[in-house]
Amino acid sequence: MNLKPAERLTLIKEGEIRRIFDLARELPDIIDLSIGEPDFPVNSQALEVGCDAARKGRTHYEPTNGVPELRKALAEKAERVFGLHYDPDSEVLVTAGGGEALAAAFVGLLNPGDEVMVPDPSFVGYTPAVRIGEGVPVGIPMLEKNGFVPSFEDVTSLVTRKSRVILLNSPNNPTGPMLFHDDAASLGEVAIKRDMIVISDEVYEKIVFDDNEHVCIATSPAMRDRTLVIGSFSKTYAMTGLRVGYAFGPKEPISSLWLVHQYTVTCVDSIAQHIALAALTDPQDSVRSIVNEFQRCRDIVHRRLNEIGLACMLPKGALYVLPNVKGFDMSSEAFTQFLLKETRVMTVPGSAFGRRGEGYIRIPFAASRERLEEALDRMERALKRLG
Ligand code: PLP
Repeated sequence: MNLKPAERLTLIKEGEIRRIFDLARELPDIIDLSIGEPDFPVNSQALEVGCDAARKGRTHYEPTNGVPELRKALAEKAERVFGLHYDPDSEVLVTAGGGEALAAAFVGLLNPGDEVMVPDPSFVGYTPAVRIGEGVPVGIPMLEKNGFVPSFEDVTSLVTRKSRVILLNSPNNPTGPMLFHDDAASLGEVAIKRDMIVISDEVYEKIVFDDNEHVCIATSPAMRDRTLVIGSFSKTYAMTGLRVGYAFGPKEPISSLWLVHQYTVTCVDSIAQHIALAALTDPQDSVRSIVNEFQRCRDIVHRRLNEIGLACMLPKGALYVLPNVKGFDMSSEAFTQFLLKETRVMTVPGSAFGRRGEGYIRIPFAASRERLEEALDRMERALKRLG
């Protein structure tokens, strides 16, 4: 009997996150700072709209590419915010979170052996999704000395005959910077010259701090027609468990994603789509106040980590800081295990995000201020004991 997994799955590693979870399960009184889970509930009016839609019978199959009203609202948002026109019927696809959009993109667009440039370090879901699409991930160095922004020279030097996709993520998980117009234009230039597609993961587009403004890479010169923009309701609207995301882009690649989506997911949960629609069309006051709270948490975490000797850059957006732990004479995995055992604070080793994440640990600041302060107090005491 052959019960082996497909070869492409054997290339996916279980990863350090799993090991740290296993260790944490055995310990009491854990402060879990492993994943970026917004610590507030879904807008109650939006929830009510979703429940109401369900009571009125919107519990049947919806169109496979998404509830029409939601696609229309997403296209209107792209027009209003970015000045980009997308046809809601053929250029917008509603997916089960940004995660499904990414996986459907790699399955839908790659041929075996096609290379995808993936930031290193980056979101843990990218490399497995590329592998599931039978692509080959090629790491773009994201170096602290460059502010963790991919450089034109590095990206250019990675281009080969097999290069097909450049994957970008701004605001960035786990490193915190954002791409601005100049970065987007120069990275776009590589894609244009080499006839590559850009997949731009913008799931944190609304979570930006200070005076920074999110730049949608599809607005760069000549990029609209070679960019797939991935978005999500997970973080902005605290809807991580409801699984609503989306992709917009030119008709041809969107049709490829749609085909994969149609024969895997069929359609996204109809109630969740109605909740998402209500959240999107609500005046965005609650989003603004939540982002302000995230900014206060970011400031506390950034200041205190630097004070206790865990130097980190100030994130411009997203929900994470990435302290440098290279001075502690331990691997980043050993450092997270030390923190877990000594302080019961669970963090994720940078190596979980790619080879170049070694020497860092990732800490999300989306938890409540009290939890964060408590975690930082515990860490401060443990680092003092370390000397
Ligand atoms: N992209 C990035 C950069 C993320 O950090 C995440 C989740 O943490 C996702 C995509 C996937 O989010 P979801 O599938 O919940 O929309």
